[in-house]
Amino acid sequence: MFSSVLSAFIFGMEAVPVRVEADVSDGLPSFSMVGYVSSQVKEAQDRVKTSLKNIQIELPPKKITVNLAPADIRKEGAGFDLPVAGAVLAALGQIPGEQAANIMMMGELSLNGEIRGVSGVLPSVMMAKEQGCRACVIPAKNLKEGQLVKGIPIIGVSSLPEMIQKLNKLHELKDQKSTWNWEQEPVGYDVDFSDICGQESLKRAAVIAASGMHNLLLIGAPGAGKTMLAQRIPTILPELTMEESLEITKIYSIAGLLPPDKPIIRTRPFRSPHHTSSAQALAGGGRIPKPGEVTLAHRSVLFLDELPEFSKSSLEILRQPLEEHCIHLSRVNGTFTFPANFMFLAAMNPCPCGYFPDQNRCTCTQREIHRYLHKISQPLLDRIDLCVEAPAISWKEMTGERSGQSSAQLRQQVIKAHSIQRKRYGNGGILFNSDLKGRDVDRYCPVTPDARKMIEQAFTTLSLSARGYHRILKVARTIADLEAEEVIHKKHLSEALAYRMLDKKYWR
Ligand SMILES: [Zn+2]
Repeated sequence: MFSSVLSAFIFGMEAVPVRVEADVSDGLPSFSMVGYVSSQVKEAQDRVKTSLKNIQIELPPKKITVNLAPADIRKEGAGFDLPVAGAVLAALGQIPGEQAANIMMMGELSLNGEIRGVSGVLPSVMMAKEQGCRACVIPAKNLKEGQLVKGIPIIGVSSLPEMIQKLNKLHELKDQKSTWNWEQEPVGYDVDFSDICGQESLKRAAVIAASGMHNLLLIGAPGAGKTMLAQRIPTILPELTMEESLEITKIYSIAGLLPPDKPIIRTRPFRSPHHTSSAQALAGGGRIPKPGEVTLAHRSVLFLDELPEFSKSSLEILRQPLEEHCIHLSRVNGTFTFPANFMFLAAMNPCPCGYFPDQNRCTCTQREIHRYLHKISQPLLDRIDLCVEAPAISWKEMTGERSGQSSAQLRQQVIKAHSIQRKRYGNGGILFNSDLKGRDVDRYCPVTPDARKMIEQAFTTLSLSARGYHRILKVARTIADLEAEEVIHKKHLSEALAYRMLDKKYWR
């Protein structure tokens, strides 16, 4: 008897269909698996044999061959246990074969026949829908994740006997609708801007950065609250739309990082990799790569604390995502492209001890300071729009009343600025002021004659590069948008210039 079921394999950001075929025929009793499978997939045969035995299904003393097609992709992972079991059960007549052929299955088996959750369910179900599958059989643990895709019946199973029973009654399951809806999932952050005492200049910079999706660097002594501020930036960005939520959830599903109690990601993630993280962890690693930190921060914030402590190769990784909003990874199997459109946030001390330019406290030599600051390359520095100093908190600020604005209040300003940008750029491929390039900067950033004079002067005195000049105009554009001004005035420009002066002060 021959039978087959459909399964899926995650290849970069996409799920590719894999057909799992099983044949039971006369011959020396054996169980073999073919079709360019990794040793991890090959182990499926032992799990399938043992779990079938433990649910009292005796395999006949026959020759059983399982094939995974197409044969030109090397398959990895434990998600093929369930389709292998399904194909064998169909070949043995335990489940209706003609039904199984058009069903997508994925899941890992334990030896007693229980089914464990797997990663990559969301993209696999999306693929199954595109392929016109009749239904999807997935682990019960991943049920809600699968149900994010509408228009295809999703069957969650927690054990092999349950799967056999449900597949034999497939016609009854047809109209089963999920009562769960993604909108019921709670939205909210554990942190809020009102937690921060004082630091008004930092908060202002955060609002500007979030409004134009500009990159932001915070410089200041330890304990000035740089990390605290960074953690709160996702809370002032607009709520995720359904499309954005699905896009981010798909990334986390593939990375295997979807929290079990949270089938959909509805709040913007805050990624803060440690400075010992490798370049691979940032970019995405593996023979068939999984999303790295730059992709996990997609549509949100990537925060690098202690920026100069990151290795040169790690920092080098950031250049492509910052320019192209995606990352390309080359492997033997081909080139993989992952989305990586994030707001880049970084924090650093001004010197190794952290107290420069405070002459009374800083114990570093000029040379040490120079070497420390110059670990950050000019090209990376050029990609940072706003540079802000985080002053030490004063006693008054620390003990005074916390009267600052809340995240919800600040978010209103950001949303307003975003909607102005949406109106201005339409569907031209530009989303935010930070996306403006070359000629677009001059087109969308008109300045008053006064402001024109000011930027001319700054261009010569600060010996700006063309890129630096554009960055200042783009930030000024966002500041003007926050006040709903069409034309950039002198005050907008001088504030934008102030955010540029700081890197001149430290890096000269
Ligand atoms: Zn120092």
